[in-house]
Amino acid sequence: MHQMTLAEIARGLADKKFSSEELTKVLLARITQLDPQLNSFISLTEELAIEQAKAADVRRANGESGALLGAPIAHKDLFCTQGIRTSCGSKMLDNFKAPYDATVVAKLAAAGAVTLGKTNMDEFAMGSANESSWYGAVKNPWNLEHVPGGSSGGSAAAVAARLLPAATATDTGGSIRQPAAFTNLTGLKPTYGRVSRWGMIAYASSLDQGGPLARTAEDCAIMLQGMAGFDQNDSTSIDEPVPDYSASLGDSLQGLRIGVPKEYFSAGLDPRIAELIQNSIKELQKLGAVIKEISLPNMQHAIPAYYVIAPAEASSNLSRFDGVRFGHRCENPQNLIDLYKRSRGEGFGPEVQRRIMVGAYALSAGYYDAYYLKAQKIRRLVKNDFMAAFNEVDIILGPTTPNPAWKLGAKNSDPVAAYLEDVYTITANLAGLPGLSMPAGFVDGLPVGVQLLAPYFQEGRLLNVAHQYQLNTDWHTRTPQGF
Ligand code: GLN
Repeated sequence: MHQMTLAEIARGLADKKFSSEELTKVLLARITQLDPQLNSFISLTEELAIEQAKAADVRRANGESGALLGAPIAHKDLFCTQGIRTSCGSKMLDNFKAPYDATVVAKLAAAGAVTLGKTNMDEFAMGSANESSWYGAVKNPWNLEHVPGGSSGGSAAAVAARLLPAATATDTGGSIRQPAAFTNLTGLKPTYGRVSRWGMIAYASSLDQGGPLARTAEDCAIMLQGMAGFDQNDSTSIDEPVPDYSASLGDSLQGLRIGVPKEYFSAGLDPRIAELIQNSIKELQKLGAVIKEISLPNMQHAIPAYYVIAPAEASSNLSRFDGVRFGHRCENPQNLIDLYKRSRGEGFGPEVQRRIMVGAYALSAGYYDAYYLKAQKIRRLVKNDFMAAFNEVDIILGPTTPNPAWKLGAKNSDPVAAYLEDVYTITANLAGLPGLSMPAGFVDGLPVGVQLLAPYFQEGRLLNVAHQYQLNTDWHTRTPQGF
């Protein structure tokens, strides 16, 4: 039962092969049995899950239908869940029970999805390895000595290990696509503004975007349908109609123009990954796509720009966690300054502290022009590169990551080494574009992802290309041993 995709679950529930309550119980038992190896959950919500599953079964018995009605999922632990701990992977919020549901949580619940729990993540979504969580590192089900990617590593590991079919995640600089690549999943970062950020604890507000992690493009379409849409509670949410994502999955790829940036195949890319990317290009050519070499000349500046802008926004967003308004409070403060200092010093881990300091520095009066303003100018150039490229091609294709999942601890002493691994993903966030990662093969038994980028609001095109690819390849069906 645990091998089923969301689409298969929807058919099974519609055909009354099993109930949502039965399926939910099977998956909860599986999580209890297998998750100690992975550490992919911070909180399990068994009672809520059974209650929601029973309610979904009643709705189906009363004639309701819908792909998410009775489907078990989990939320990355930065989506606020009413009355349930929402920790953001931090000691700072270990005791925080959100007073309301995030829009994404409320929308999926209204569609009938069943919440099994809250998944582990890098502290405040800062990281690419899921090692900065206060609740401990998450392990990659493909090799327990390797990282699952981050920051949505808990969602990715849980879905890859077949503990559940899909989960929510967020992507500020790659945190949906990179863990998808590292765990053999399909992950979609939507256009900035497509999915409401209301109730999503902010890391870098101008970059953060929620989206789905699942095993197939078909399932990502189902999840995105439940998550997307205008929300008047989020001033950056965009009032554009939501298309029927599943309906666009059948389109032919005949004549589809795929751009492959020459900058993607530089020295930093593992040649074995380069070969798998070439194979995926050949596969798409067989399906009728036309390949064109393109250039994204400002790509080399994207990492420095991102690692100024994201910490700058984080230093502002995280100022609310001061032991007074929100978050952990130290014992016996001597005065107000002592309260702030020790509460923040104890509540935040080292990576979060580093980024707050970098961000505050970049925004300070003497350095604003030299760092923050310059980074914003680069951001515009990165966007302009994409706009020029999309005049010539329908989709951009390349690797999701330069290397496969590294060993736990391998990059702990050198944060910049980890930042460099984001080279292919962060440009989409800087430009606000939608991006998808899908399975493209294996290197040393570890999964490799291919990334597709599309113009604004063309999530349907990304899902369609990925679905057509998945109809003709079987990488996405491979299961990690022991799960
Ligand atoms: N690895 C990037 C960072 O650490 C991206 C994280 C994310 O997308 N949340 O900032």
